[in-house]
Amino acid sequence: MQLPIARRAASLSPSVTLAIDSKAKQMKAEGLDVVGFGAGEPDFDTPQHIKDAAAKALADGFTKYTPSSGIPELRQAIADKFQRENGLTYKPSQIIVSNGGKHSCYNVILATCQEGDEVLIPSPYWLSYPEMVKLAGATPVILPTTDRTEFKVTPEQLRAAITPRSRLFILNSPSNPTGSVYSPEEIRVLGDICVEKGVLIMSDEIYEHLLYDGATHRSVASLSPAHQANTVIVHGFAKAWSMTGWRLGFLAAPEPIAKAIDAVQSHSTSNPCSFAQKGGVAALTGPQDHLPRWLAEYARRRTYAWQKLNSIPGVTCVNSRGAFYLFPNISGTGLKSADFCARLLDQEKVAAVPGIAFGADDYIRLSYATGMANIEKGLDRLDRFVRGLK
Ligand SMILES: *Cc1c(COP(=O)(O)O)cnc(C)c1O
Repeated sequence: MQLPIARRAASLSPSVTLAIDSKAKQMKAEGLDVVGFGAGEPDFDTPQHIKDAAAKALADGFTKYTPSSGIPELRQAIADKFQRENGLTYKPSQIIVSNGGKHSCYNVILATCQEGDEVLIPSPYWLSYPEMVKLAGATPVILPTTDRTEFKVTPEQLRAAITPRSRLFILNSPSNPTGSVYSPEEIRVLGDICVEKGVLIMSDEIYEHLLYDGATHRSVASLSPAHQANTVIVHGFAKAWSMTGWRLGFLAAPEPIAKAIDAVQSHSTSNPCSFAQKGGVAALTGPQDHLPRWLAEYARRRTYAWQKLNSIPGVTCVNSRGAFYLFPNISGTGLKSADFCARLLDQEKVAAVPGIAFGADDYIRLSYATGMANIEKGLDRLDRFVRGLK
């Protein structure tokens, strides 16, 4: 019997990162001393008061279905966050809590895009965006950028790519995988073009709080009421509160889009985990003193790694301004990214993610959400590996 595989599933690209990741895990299990730069999550633990709030909710029996789009207390806390930190006024009905920021992205794309629609995605991109667009039946249109523009799409590029079929522009600042951050002026120009052309923006702001060297975050929605009406903000608890395993994300959308997403979510996943939502309330309303400590540590690692990378012949690296990634250019080594990463893992037992996974084959992604000793050891090995290629 021929087992049925739907076109929408068959057309997905299998994750390039998975092959490296599973090989690294297997090598570790064999007792080999593997240094991992692949992590897309903080190496810090979730702050204790957040765990306590979830544990208390569990002990209190807060274990049943909640409203599909999240408990009112959390939606209010999220609306308050947008008011306090971004100067944005949302009604709780415009806030949807989902099973992670990734789920929020998928809900937005599913609720706004369909066959015949084009979705504009700057590359290097977070690898799930194009696949989600394909799942929705729409067509990803990639706007390539390089380290020469710090991986930022130019206004001319955006204008030239917009067609009558353009439905959505995906903006991710600070960026995974590059760590680049658009300035408030750059955000305004891109936001103006999308408002003028009537192209909705999905602004993935999950790294909003992870900024370095005085970089500032400006939400495109906060530029004017017209921009707010043309933007869906995607966010979540995974990165700034180290809650990746909790599966808790959220979005803020114009009312009709929030309603459509509510319907999608109510018929697919229903509510995100009840007691995790109580943890989310504690994360937003409790102390934030973990963040400066984490940022100081990320900043220290980032400076070390950036300097070390630029001392390696054939490797150049623009510094990141946010998130916890560096995205060095390895084209000077003569290798493409998949080959580079496979050989690096084989020869030196260092796991990095090939840039091709993010649509950029001349680069690799290194996460500095790992301890300083690991970073020193791993980059010494990377240095030796590259010098050995000559
Ligand atoms: C981590 C991440 C998310 C959301 O992750 P979740 O674990 O699903 O909350 C969304 N966008 C980007 C760019 C990310 O790196």
